[in-house]
Amino acid sequence: MIKIDEKRIFEVIEQRKPRSVALNGAEALIPRFQDVADHITERFGIQAYVIGDTCWGSCDLNTHAADMLGADILFSIGHTVAMETFGEKVVMINAFDDVSFDTVARKCAKELQGKYKTVSLLTDSQHLEQVEGVKKIFEEYGYQVIIGRGKGQLLDAQVFGCEFYPAWNVQRKVDAYIFLGQSMFHSASVAMATEKPTFMLDPYFEEYSQVNEFAQGLQKRAILAIYKALDAERIGLIIGLKEGQFAHVRALELKKEFERLGKKVQLIALTEITDDRVQIFKGIDAFVQVACPRIATDNHFKKPMLSVPQALALIKLLKKEPIEDFLRIQHWL
Ligand code: SF4
Repeated sequence: MIKIDEKRIFEVIEQRKPRSVALNGAEALIPRFQDVADHITERFGIQAYVIGDTCWGSCDLNTHAADMLGADILFSIGHTVAMETFGEKVVMINAFDDVSFDTVARKCAKELQGKYKTVSLLTDSQHLEQVEGVKKIFEEYGYQVIIGRGKGQLLDAQVFGCEFYPAWNVQRKVDAYIFLGQSMFHSASVAMATEKPTFMLDPYFEEYSQVNEFAQGLQKRAILAIYKALDAERIGLIIGLKEGQFAHVRALELKKEFERLGKKVQLIALTEITDDRVQIFKGIDAFVQVACPRIATDNHFKKPMLSVPQALALIKLLKKEPIEDFLRIQHWL
């Protein structure tokens, strides 16, 4: 069960005495935010707004909504990062899942014994508290366990869907990665960025699986999109309007580079980058979006849609340079 750190929310409200607050975070937690909002209003007699828009990570805080509502504090729940606050308004609140990994970790450690000597544990925000327990289990079975150090917003052992420092920094020392959590999204990207055997431990079904084949499928699609974009005459260059994904400068740099290589470029700004929205635009042969790289790698679009590393690979191809390993980087932005 997910445990939201309400105690910290109450402490912050007691300290700062806001007139109203807003709550946002992962979509799956919205029903829980409704309870938290009720508790805030009961306890402090202030308005508590639940923001119902999608929120994909600490890159997607939606302070604009909090400003429009006049909320003095925005509690961003469930995207634990190395920072406790962002600016004056945003306070990050932990939401940890207390599901046990004991059974699945033992099963995995036992069955992979002899195949891999040194493993590194990784996870997303929700399971950071279980890393130490799983480490002990793998050590009991004789593995050497390395926990990669965090960097930037990432804590030790933590990865985002586009940022992998704890995995990247230890790759020469490890034989395989063990990802804690039911997330192909995170584990497959580790497999793509490192090309090492990567296993996902699912604590709910108490099963583990290797994700490299799935990751290769995503990678093949990403490569195919680049080749399909090669002959594009006009590129739609999309700047995402979500605040933590706003990469205006990067977009202008890419525009310059594409124009130098003879492409026409239309600048587009969008908040939600979906196939439906991009189909509105006429005369575009391929799109490049500089927001979340996973929009391009994980979704289906009728016309080629490239993320930043794919766009950089396309530029290399246009210059007749090789593109191998374009996803083997520690941060896909
Ligand atoms: S993968 Fe996308 S949603 Fe996740 S942190 Fe990166 S930019 Fe944000």
